[in-house]
Amino acid sequence: MSAPRRGDGVTLGPPGPEPTDLGRFGEFGGRFVPETLVPALEELELEFRRAWTSPEFREEYAQLLAQYAGRPTPVTECHRLSEHLGVRVLLKREDLTHTGSHKINNVLGQALLTQRMGKRRVIAETGAGQHGVATATACALFGLDCIVFMGAVDVERQALNVFRMQLLGAEVIPVTSGSATLKDAINDALRDWVASVQSTHYCIGSVVGPHPFPWMVREFQRIVGDEAREQTRSILGGDPDFVVACVGGGSNAMGTFAGFTDTDAQLIGVEAGGLGIETGHHGASVSRGVPGALHGARSLYLQNEDGQILEAHSISAGLDYPGVGPEHAALAASGRAEYPSATDVEALAGFQLLSKLEGIVPALEPAHAVGWLMREAGNRVPKDSTVMLTMSGRGDKDAMQVSEMLAEQAGR
Ligand SMILES: *Cc1c(COP(=O)(O)O)cnc(C)c1O
Repeated sequence: MSAPRRGDGVTLGPPGPEPTDLGRFGEFGGRFVPETLVPALEELELEFRRAWTSPEFREEYAQLLAQYAGRPTPVTECHRLSEHLGVRVLLKREDLTHTGSHKINNVLGQALLTQRMGKRRVIAETGAGQHGVATATACALFGLDCIVFMGAVDVERQALNVFRMQLLGAEVIPVTSGSATLKDAINDALRDWVASVQSTHYCIGSVVGPHPFPWMVREFQRIVGDEAREQTRSILGGDPDFVVACVGGGSNAMGTFAGFTDTDAQLIGVEAGGLGIETGHHGASVSRGVPGALHGARSLYLQNEDGQILEAHSISAGLDYPGVGPEHAALAASGRAEYPSATDVEALAGFQLLSKLEGIVPALEPAHAVGWLMREAGNRVPKDSTVMLTMSGRGDKDAMQVSEMLAEQAGR
């Protein structure tokens, strides 16, 4: 046996706080699932708690993050953007990871756990396909069977990602029920899991779903915030005034915030404002959501007066989930974090500005955070403030869509 090795430059910080009994974050979270899933969730909770404090597991995970995912990712100081905005901007570069977004941090952790639980089959749901591709990647690496549920409408819209998943060895199952989009894919994945829990792990892609997922996914993503805190300190000589990230389900934001909750930094989660909050076509689940229980957890969801879940709208497929992770709902309730939004138009402006001034083409999701900063620099964010913004992914996947939208804008 060879001696255990260090994770090649990746150092995991100490585990973060566990939610209270049954995964509660204040009045949110919990475990709202059919009885048949409870044993699987209890097994997962136990296994994760054990793994997360096990030196062997942490070593193995740190090594994967270093050798496969390409961590640690740098923090980049944006000189030209800072000059343009009048505030000092640093970016945490999750766009530079293998597969091009923070999602890889979570799926590698869950694939390792799947192996530890002796399971050989992984199911996942995906909207735009990004989490499906990440899961299929981790399953290829570990030799696990991978089944991805995807709304039939999304299968049509995201043909390239469907092909990617198939190339990686995954089976993509089109879901035709309901609106044939993400929330229906989640329902079908949950249905599959009820029938297959003995052999199957359900790999959830954000800080959503029943306990222990919101806690576990936050812990797998906290590497983003832990690294960023140390890197920002060495650049600024202290903590930033603002820590900003975009919020879909909320995993890149929660991982980022986890590194800064005990600092004085103001935490800002930027939601999808879509066509404008007042139009009703948006994905602003924290600011416009209503408490309710869906997909296994009590949190904030976009609902009508009868409690029917509404469709979210965003230019960015990764932000149009009509809910948000329970820990964000709790952070909003306590006032520790704020959740403003940026519209489609503002995100498009952020996409172009960062590309032009820094040579970094952002994914449309974090382009919302850039768009928000463009609006608020000199306002909510006073002149000369320091800002650490998480660049959750790269924009190659969005380039065609943006080119079409800009042509449309020009033609109007
Ligand atoms: C999926 C995705 C998001 C949204 O998911 P969160 O769980 O809110 O982080 C944001 N940015 C990128 C690049 C993504 O791929």
